[in-house]
Amino acid sequence: MPTYDYLCEKCGHTFEKMQAMSAKVLRKCPKCKKLKLKRLIGGGTGIIVTGQTPPPDNRIKGRPEHIKF
Ligand SMILES: [Zn+2]
Repeated sequence: MPTYDYLCEKCGHTFEKMQAMSAKVLRKCPKCKKLKLKRLIGGGTGIIVTGQTPPPDNRIKGRPEHIKF
C-alpha cells in the first residue's frame, strides 16, 4: 500500500498517510480541521510517475541525428 504525503494549505501541517490506491483523497486536516489538504505528488513510496519520454530511435533511416526530443 503506498504512502501519500499531505500538506495542509491552511496551517502548513504535513504528514504521511498510508492509503490504498483506490482510497479517497483526504480533504480534512487533522490539525486545524479545515478542508485544505493537498496530496503531494512524488512523495512516499510505491508511486510510479508516468509520462516517460521514449528514447530517440536513431535506427530509423532518414531521421537527422541532431533532432532532440
Ligand atoms: Zn491544517
